Amino acid sequence: MQGKLFLIVGPSGSGKGTVIKKMKAKYIGFIYPISYTTRDPREGEVDGDVYHFISRDKFQEMIDAGEFLEYATVHETDFYGTSKKDIMDGLSQGNVVMREVDIQGFNSIKEIIPEENLVSIFMKVVGEEDLKKRILMRGEMSDAELARRMESTLKEIAQADKCKYQVENKWGEITACVANVEKIILDEIKDIY
Ligand code: 5GP
Repeated sequence: MQGKLFLIVGPSGSGKGTVIKKMKAKYIGFIYPISYTTRDPREGEVDGDVYHFISRDKFQEMIDAGEFLEYATVHETDFYGTSKKDIMDGLSQGNVVMREVDIQGFNSIKEIIPEENLVSIFMKVVGEEDLKKRILMRGEMSDAELARRMESTLKEIAQADKCKYQVENKWGEITACVANVEKIILDEIKDIY
């Protein structure tokens, strides 16, 4: 296997999606696999852009058919899974592949993809107030939902040092954060491309 898989890890609202969107616009030769999820699309989300939005039955069929490299239940509600074919084909053809996953996805993938082909970048958010604001950016939610998300977010952050790199996303400084991620990626691929 020759390619490199960059996993962008970190809690919801930490800027993973923005980082990937910026990279996608600038580096059109990289592969950006589309994951599958059972959650409903949010306003403005288009099927086939970041996710394929599918039913639970279809998701289960894909599990049974062994089509996922990994899958997980996120925030104890919906399923999310990465396509084995998209990622493995990308890597075996020597490509740079980039995908955001939650920490469970990263934990599963690091058991499958050899270390030399995998680079993990954790997007860190510091401070509970900042975290809360970012969770609430996802839309209105009950106090119970906020508390549940806060708990899974803190669990996720506690595992940040499992990732090879950590990049802090300070409130209002996403441009600097994207630049830091880009620097890591270019440095990681300089000897192979
Ligand atoms: P959201 O619903 O906010 O788009 O995503 C919720 C969480 O699921 C985020 O942490 C996101 O990175 C993660 N996620 C997105 N795609 C995948 C995937 O294919 N597998 C896993 N394990 N997590 C994913």
